[in-house]
Amino acid sequence: MIIQKTSSSRLESFDQENYSFGDHFIDHMIICEYDNGKWGEAKLMPYGPLSFSPANMTFNYGQACFEGMKAYKDKDGQVFLFRPRKNFERINKSAKRLAMPEVPEEVFMKGLKVLMDVDRAWIPYGEGRSLYIRPLIFATEEGLKARVAHKYMFAIVASPAKSYYTAPVSVKISDYYSRSASGGVGFAKAAGNYAAAFYPTQMAIEEGYDQIIWTDDATHEYFEESGTMNVFVRINDTIYTPPTSEKILDGITRDSFIQLAKHKGLDIRVEPVAVKTVLEAQKNGTLKEIWGVGTAVVTSVFKAFGYKDQRFELPVLADEDSYALTLKKALVDIQTNQAEDPFGWRELVERNILETV
Ligand SMILES: *Cc1c(COP(=O)(O)O)cnc(C)c1O
Repeated sequence: MIIQKTSSSRLESFDQENYSFGDHFIDHMIICEYDNGKWGEAKLMPYGPLSFSPANMTFNYGQACFEGMKAYKDKDGQVFLFRPRKNFERINKSAKRLAMPEVPEEVFMKGLKVLMDVDRAWIPYGEGRSLYIRPLIFATEEGLKARVAHKYMFAIVASPAKSYYTAPVSVKISDYYSRSASGGVGFAKAAGNYAAAFYPTQMAIEEGYDQIIWTDDATHEYFEESGTMNVFVRINDTIYTPPTSEKILDGITRDSFIQLAKHKGLDIRVEPVAVKTVLEAQKNGTLKEIWGVGTAVVTSVFKAFGYKDQRFELPVLADEDSYALTLKKALVDIQTNQAEDPFGWRELVERNILETV
């Protein structure tokens, strides 16, 4: 690994109390280039812009995918990653679907740990605080012929995150737009999936909602995801979440919620969730909660949902009665080393990794 550290850290001038998500970046980044059929040596270097031509194939044909993950600091200053191998496996699933080269485990995992170790001072400590990490792969070749690129870059950048509390949101059940389709790229964290979701989301916002509950593209009768999160529904005391598929992204937070719910002895079922079932439960008063889960905010609690022209309010539960918030707390406690980790999910970032690179 090539190591090129900055001579002037920006940490002193970073206001650790006043910043918003995704706007500030740690001192360093990792890059690794792919050319002539192979990956080169990974490099740690100062974070900053790279220059590409407008004829870059990413800008024109969209071969780009990414991951979202976090590092957490505990009260003793130890740094942990959460299930990082899952992200490694998933970025390669995404890459494969987009006809991009898979990144070697060594490049991904070592790059991640070296970056976390070198910039550990940037990792926020405290309730709701973490470092959001964004690994990505994109085409770097210049050329306008519509074909698979021959040159790529793998990069890791990271940004301090804090979310003490996220206000409950209202969501619109989509009866027209789709996030993904059979045989498509919905299971991949393809950059273009996000671009395609922005317009329908804007439409929902204009109607007074915050997010969309995506339904299946064929019938719009079944829940798939919520915004860029996986979705859970609680009817009476049973939790439902749709099975993952080529149309539903296999979220790591989703998987963790399912395992935690089982561990706590809650009744959780991975099965299709019909819009009709949710509407009936709403009518007969058995619909208790709907929430979304993902790495960025862990849990987004819904206060209302819309279907066609109707808007329905969800019950307001005390925090301790909410399965969404109970499971969120259990997960965050494991992530931040405030609870036992019976699942082996936490991964310690060793100090002074550079000495062994
Ligand atoms: C990233 C993502 C999720 C959540 O995945 P996590 O691994 O839990 O962060 C869910 N749905 C979509 C569409 C996503 O892109």
